[in-house]
Order: sequence, then structure tokens, then C-alpha cells
Amino acid sequence: KKRIAVMTSGGDSPGMNGSVRAVVRMAIDQGCEAYCVYEGYEGLVQGGDLIRQAHWEDVRGWLSEGGTLIGTARCKAFTERPGRLKAAKNMIDKGINALVICGGDGSLTGADTFRGEWPSLLEELVKNGDISTEQQKTFQYLNIVGLVGSIDNDFADTDATIGCYSSLGRICEAVDYIDATAFSHQRAFVIEVMGRHCGWLALMAGVSTGADFIFIPESPPDRDWEDQMCDIISKHRKLGKRKTIVIVAEGAHDLDLTRISPNKVKDLLSTRLKLDTRITTLGHVQRGGNACAYDRQLSTLQGVEAVNAVLEATPETPSKFIAIIENKIVRNPLIEAVKSTQEVAEAIKAKDFKRALDLRGPEFAE
Ligand code: ATP
Repeated sequence: KKRIAVMTSGGDSPGMNGSVRAVVRMAIDQGCEAYCVYEGYEGLVQGGDLIRQAHWEDVRGWLSEGGTLIGTARCKAFTERPGRLKAAKNMIDKGINALVICGGDGSLTGADTFRGEWPSLLEELVKNGDISTEQQKTFQYLNIVGLVGSIDNDFADTDATIGCYSSLGRICEAVDYIDATAFSHQRAFVIEVMGRHCGWLALMAGVSTGADFIFIPESPPDRDWEDQMCDIISKHRKLGKRKTIVIVAEGAHDLDLTRISPNKVKDLLSTRLKLDTRITTLGHVQRGGNACAYDRQLSTLQGVEAVNAVLEATPETPSKFIAIIENKIVRNPLIEAVKSTQEVAEAIKAKDFKRALDLRGPEFAE
């Protein structure tokens, strides 16, 4: 029986459990044995009890749960060959040579590197007497497939990452709570949201809550942004608006790439516009809680497709990840997507914001 392992890696996101559940159950459905790797790549490197068989009932009730129940970690050892050598040995000891990884671009790059190196790792294990030539032959190739789990929606070549809609929902809910009190006291609130280099959460939260002004990394405001923001907010106030909401992505900056801090925005609103202004940093509530319906659906459909893909992969096919494009679940080349994802950060650093917006997709361009 083929043994397929599933793991979560990098930052947690709601829906990761749904994808583990789907992979485990689809693997069993397809006549395979399912394994979970606990604590991300740390589990692969340490092996032992951190790689365990998972049965159908082990993932019961996981669909709605937030975070990742099999744990996640950042693992330095796996970024170096000796760590990956240990990981290969642990996998072969358990009879596993197919792996589904749910994580961000770092985790998926690591998986692709591991796959590429696999034959040479096995060679070394044989030379060290850690595995037999028989085992080398049986486990000749490593099949990997990626699922993108991230609240940031920062990955290229897919419309949504597993977790981003749960997080967006939570942000909107929090802004609604703040709205009520802001309205009551006619206050202004500067709300910092997560997303790292990506402004998707801030942009969509701004649209979904009717914010007065947003700051995102891909489109820094003009040099006279202070005047622009104050003009717009004064206009809104003159039109009778009793509250002001400014959303700042954590990775936002100005044209000189100086961080736009919520404090700076607050000072401006209080000194220039004389608004009673407060800052709210939403923090980790944005990652927590149950997965929304969309993430339950996405993680399930993509988990099923990941098992199909891992079973059909051949040594010649480049590594794939499971995407959703225009509502269809598709397999896309992994490395191209990782490259485009990283290109956005590079474009921002190089101040090529047009390119950054183009790479992010149509919702940013509009
Ligand atoms: P997030 O987007 O949430 O940060 P991520 O998957 O990009 O998720 P990283 O911290 O970059 O998060 O990567 C998670 C783990 O994947 C790392 O701790 C490391 O073990 C492994 N990893 C990352 N990059 C590589 C790489 N280039 N080669 C091998 N392993 C890697």
C-alpha cells in the first residue's frame, strides 16, 4: 500500500485542518495509508513519534477548527542538507515517499528542493549504511504536492489561499465592532491588519467595511499623502460622517519605503483634523477561530485534488501545487508560482509598484 504523508508548515491559517482531513480521508479512500507529520519540517527531521499513521476517525471534527491541530514550526535544520538527509531516512523508515505540504512559499520551496535532492540523499543513505539498496529502489522517487495555506493571500497563480477568507471575515467583524463605538463618540480609528508584504487583507477589508483610507505595500501613497488623506477625511466628515476608519497593512510604507506607522497616521488625524483618534492593532485574532465556509470548501476540494495529483505525479513532471482559478480547482507548476510570489517583494523593494500591482492581479489594479 502506498503511504502518503501530510503536513502543515510556516504560519498557521484557518482551513489547514480541513486540508489535513481531506488528504487523510482521500488517501484512505484511494486505498493508501495516510500519515501525519507533526510540527512541520521539525517532525520530518526528528521522525519517531512525530510521523504517525492517521485513520479516518482521527480527523473527525477537524473541518471547522482553526489553526493546525498537527502543529507547525519554523525548522532551520530542514533548510540544510544534513537536516533533509535525516528527513529522508525517517520517511523511508516509515515507508513514505509521497508528501502533501500545506504552507507558504518557503515551505513549498523547501519541499521542491527536497524532491530534487531525493535521489542523491538516498545514495548517501545507502553509502552510510542507513538504508538498503532494496529500499533505495523501492523509494526511488519522492512525490510532493503543495497546498497554499496562508491568511495573507500572497501566493501567485491562485485566486485564494486557504485561510485568507476566514481572516478577512474576522477583520471585517472587528471593524464592525469598532465602527459602533467610533460612531457613538465621533472618533477616528487607525486599524493595523496583517498581511506581511501583501496588501490583500487591507485592501479587501477596506472595500468590505467602507474604510475612509487604506495603506498597502504595493501602492504607496504619493509624497503629499498627508494632505491627500486629510482632505478626503475632512470631506467625508463634512458630508456628515461621524466616524473615520483608516486601515494600515502591516507592510505599508511611503514612496521612500519608510514604514507608515499607525502612530504617524494617528498624530496627523489628531493634530491636523482635531479628531479623537485611537489605534487598534488587530493582531493574532486575525488568524484564530473557526474556518469560514469558503475555507472549509477550498481546503476539502484542494486536499482531494492534492491526493489525486500526488498519485499521478511522475518523476518527469515538475512539482505542482493546487490552486483555485476562476472557481476551478487546478494543478499549477510550483516553482513558477514561488518565483512570481517572490518577484512582488522584489518589485516593491525596487520601487516598481506598477509591476507589483500587475503581479498581484486584477483586484489590485482596479
Ligand atoms: P508563511 O507564508 O506563513 O511564512 P512559509 O512556508 O513561507 O509560510 P517559512 O518560514 O518561509 O514559511 O518556511 C517554513 C519552513 O519551511 C522553514 O522553517 C524551513 O524549515 C522550510 N523552508 C523554507 N524555505 C526553505 C528552503 N529554501 N529550503 C528548504 N526548506 C525551507
